Amino acid sequence: MVVIGGGHAGCEAAAAAARTGADTILLTQRLDTLGEMSCNPAIGGLAKGQLVREIDALDGLMGRAIDQGGIQFRILNRSKGPAVQGPRAQADRKLYRQAMRSLLEAQENLRLVQGAADDLVVTDGTVTGLVLADGRTIAAGAVVVTTGTFLSGLIHCGERTWAAGRVGDAPNYGLSRALKRLGLPLARLKTGTPARLDGRTIDWAGLDMQAGDDPPVPFSTLTTAITQPQVRCGITYTNAATHGVIIANLHRSAMYSGRIQSVGPRYCPSIEDKIVRFADKDRHQIFLEPEGLDDPTVYPNGISTSLPAEVQDAMIRTMAGLERVTILRPGYAIEYDFVDPRALDRSLAVRSVPGLFLAGQINGTTGYEEAGAQGLVAGLNAARRVAGSAPLILDRADAYIGVMIDDLVRLGTSEPYRMFTSRAEYRLLLRSDNADLRLTPIGEAMGSVGPERRQAFAHRLAGLTAGRAVLDRLSASPTVLARAGFAVNQDGVARSAWDLLGYPDMTLARLALLWPELGAIDPASAEQLEIEGKYRGYLDRQEADIRAYRRDEGLELPADLDYAQVGSLSNEVRQKLAAARPASLAAAARIPGVTPAAISALLGHVKRRG
Ligand code: FAD
Repeated sequence: MVVIGGGHAGCEAAAAAARTGADTILLTQRLDTLGEMSCNPAIGGLAKGQLVREIDALDGLMGRAIDQGGIQFRILNRSKGPAVQGPRAQADRKLYRQAMRSLLEAQENLRLVQGAADDLVVTDGTVTGLVLADGRTIAAGAVVVTTGTFLSGLIHCGERTWAAGRVGDAPNYGLSRALKRLGLPLARLKTGTPARLDGRTIDWAGLDMQAGDDPPVPFSTLTTAITQPQVRCGITYTNAATHGVIIANLHRSAMYSGRIQSVGPRYCPSIEDKIVRFADKDRHQIFLEPEGLDDPTVYPNGISTSLPAEVQDAMIRTMAGLERVTILRPGYAIEYDFVDPRALDRSLAVRSVPGLFLAGQINGTTGYEEAGAQGLVAGLNAARRVAGSAPLILDRADAYIGVMIDDLVRLGTSEPYRMFTSRAEYRLLLRSDNADLRLTPIGEAMGSVGPERRQAFAHRLAGLTAGRAVLDRLSASPTVLARAGFAVNQDGVARSAWDLLGYPDMTLARLALLWPELGAIDPASAEQLEIEGKYRGYLDRQEADIRAYRRDEGLELPADLDYAQVGSLSNEVRQKLAAARPASLAAAARIPGVTPAAISALLGHVKRRG
């Protein structure tokens, strides 16, 4: 099988396919940009960090690559509950690319090929290969397209526009044409990136600086320690003068002058957008993030823009620390073709074209982590299709990956889709700390987990089982506990250490004062057991919700169901359901345009009908 594109989706797709034993080619325009970060030099964050841990749990590469390339690691929301914490790391771009390249090169069954795909070969409606721009053809049992922002890409910088896949890379038109010819619904989206600054010309002395966690916590369960040096970021702010420059030049911004019609990421707006939309805010925080250990380039996080280069220069120099800064490369916006993801099923296969899979930004998402997660699923499923095996389908209760894919294929997207914890109904269970417990067994069953992780996972399970056994075994009477300073009811009933862990504000460290043998539980198991012990009440409730969700999903719909009788459905949804006559609630939910609210109305109706 062949994966087109060596970005974040493509690297995961190719590696996942090859891990299953499929003979895999990763075809990309330039091998030296494998794993390139087009925009911010960082991996993870809230909800995105969970995605990276899930990729890692399925033996994907992103977690290991950032552990080798990260130069500042932080657990975001550390003071909040574990459900909303997210690991994030800033990357040395070059180290990240090198790490990704060596992981790919070490992967058996995988060949890396440089070249641009220009067309798909379709035989009797099924994709059977592709044609390269230089005329070469490659036959394939399945093709995964992960071409990011490259399809009919058009860059905007002020009044200037030029065709490109991203700055310095050629766009691709052939695949856009091929996808259109196959009847896929294409539309346009846009995204933007800020200028890059020369760190040697920043006046760091007066700026607040932010360090990472010490010690840094790795993403991958296979990484024992982060060994590369760690750096700090600077913090500056926009001010009235910055806003003045932007307002005075809004008419020259590609977006505001009307030259860009497509929609951009709402939650990652350009600085022009922020100034207009949040006119009452007198400043915006800007992080100055080093792009590498031996690279002076600095990424000013928070000022992506499509203003002309000279306006960017004037605007940036209004900020503290940046008065004398040199801009190495101006920011820009890019418009590109994407495919409405409602054309896909939950395996990320194109429903109407057997053998064709899509992953990443081409499906209307934004972000490396969203792309990587889809890539893994699409690559694995393309390989499984070739092998004649059933696909991996993750649902909303399995993983953030399942939530994202379910959202995309059911609801489509009208703006670049990014992951948030609020999108996941079961986020107490879908935590970053338990991604391996949730997904590694599934990955093992799907053939996507290699021997090293298998062994590490077995070791982890053994540690948890042993730790839990100790917690269950140790117990004391209320009198002994009271003497040791624990506030428990004097009801004569002994409590185990596991019981006590569920008490408010209880920690393993506190319990170890009474039972020193608890100190022997290895730190990783201790952390896991503490979270599960502490939140068990909530977790049990959420597990009950998940059982109900899965039961409802499997609910069969009567063949003679009269959709006209189901209240609270829009006419459009009613017509769609009547036309498709889905056999189960799950099948109904997968009909494009049938919303969660419609499903809940349908469920209520069927239950009432008995
Ligand atoms: P990409 O990383 O774009 O990779 C596509 C790959 O396909 C490249 O290797 C390319 O060479 C290859 N390719 C393309 N066409 C062909 C072909 N025909 N044949 C062979 N190979 C081909 N994300 C955020 O989260 N926040 C942001 O603020 C943000 N801003 C961005 C700003 C810009 C200017 C750009 C370009 C991207 C931005 N992103 C942002 C998005 C982020 O870069 C992408 O979401 C992510 O890289 C998508 O991964 P991908 O694998 O789908 O595609």
